[in-house]
Amino acid sequence: MSLDLSQNDLSHVVEADRAHVWHHLSQHKPYETSDPRVFVEGKGMRLWDTKGREYLDAVSGGVWTVNVGYGRESIANAVRDQLLRLNYYAGAAGNVPAALFAEKLVERMPGLTRVYYSNSGSEANEKAYKMVRQIAHRHYKGKKWKILYRERDYHGTTIGTLATSGQPQRAEQYGPYPDGFVMVPHCLEYRKQWDVENYGQRAADAIEEVILREGPDTVGAIVLEPVTAGGGVIVPPEGYWQRVQEICRKYDILLHIDEVVCGLGRTGSWFGYQQYGIEPDFVTMAKGLASGYAAISCTVTTERVFEMFKDDPADPMSYFRDISTFGGCTSGPAAALENMRIIEDEGLLANTEAMGERCLANLQALMDKHKVIGDVRGKGLFLGAELVADRTTKEPLDEKRVQAVVADCLAQGVIIGATNRSLPGLNNTLCLSPALIATPDDIDRITDAIDAALGRLAA
Ligand code: PMP
Repeated sequence: MSLDLSQNDLSHVVEADRAHVWHHLSQHKPYETSDPRVFVEGKGMRLWDTKGREYLDAVSGGVWTVNVGYGRESIANAVRDQLLRLNYYAGAAGNVPAALFAEKLVERMPGLTRVYYSNSGSEANEKAYKMVRQIAHRHYKGKKWKILYRERDYHGTTIGTLATSGQPQRAEQYGPYPDGFVMVPHCLEYRKQWDVENYGQRAADAIEEVILREGPDTVGAIVLEPVTAGGGVIVPPEGYWQRVQEICRKYDILLHIDEVVCGLGRTGSWFGYQQYGIEPDFVTMAKGLASGYAAISCTVTTERVFEMFKDDPADPMSYFRDISTFGGCTSGPAAALENMRIIEDEGLLANTEAMGERCLANLQALMDKHKVIGDVRGKGLFLGAELVADRTTKEPLDEKRVQAVVADCLAQGVIIGATNRSLPGLNNTLCLSPALIATPDDIDRITDAIDAALGRLAA
């Protein structure tokens, strides 16, 4: 039986939502008194809520997820067919879409060969951290157990991944945390920590300084976002990634790239790291992997990492003793296979690059008009505009005014985002991440809405 969506039911839905759903990232009071948006339907980049209001979604489902857009019949059909054939089997046995998707995925990731399935970005990252820890136990006599992470980066919501939160405000009140996670400085040139010419090199050198301080033989891995998402849409400066790679090789440190946001086309290449020519040891991905049509995440590694878990008859604990119950759902890889086919056949990587350039140019033009924009940054359809109270001091614009811009766009029927609500110092960057199918008209409508909202803000 499918859901009956008569108008009567829809007003009841809003009441049920208000009464019983504990919403993510929401303070209770403001939500209770708000006019909540409960979405009913989506098509392409458009959404409709219970009141029949139409929106242009410039944030791909709120958090950079619906890369190929809403209402994709072919993904629904692929999932349906697979569920009727076989919905699930977990553990050591395999299933058809998982095998076929793993093969297709690594074909697009030269140097990587093994795919470990789970359900969320946090989980994919936790798996990689556990692998690093087990490698330390098995191959380095308990050394090389520390994992470095970067200021402003985010890797998930579990206790383990929060221990690598570069946004300390997110981790506050959930401790104590496990040991061995060490923060390195961020690389956002707009908010310079060093007054030097070659900022990329300097920011990467700061990682080496932490490694030397901690002792290179204690550091096993570093986890980094290729382009930082929630921490402010940070596109690393020239030369940064090459130097990071050099440092990792020099000290035998595994490079873990968190592609939970950038993966599957967001930056205009299959993966964000591929924009910078680096060779990671771990790549984790989730959101765009199946564009939100099913829950799936992957931890992808090299053969070298896989081989470090080689069976050792003298050590019955030598294999990776981990499981993810819903890593055995076939809906995830079935949806991911079709999602990948769509990105390829519809030329969405090239579209992302072209539309990203258009969006960035539009935002840059808005900078001339609106002094409140301190900086604009972006790679592909992953863009940010940092709002400041004063361009010279770069004092962040206060959250109320940033949210007023988001609310104004919403009133115009355009959903945009802003980084890190209620996290002081991180809450002043407007975020855009339209689906990879965006057209020039969609892009212009989004930036026109921001233009109008900033005009009203100034007035
Ligand atoms: N890594 C990054 C870069 C993210 O942005 C997120 C989620 N916003 C995660 C990991 C965690 O993913 P999930 O919410 O699926 O656990």
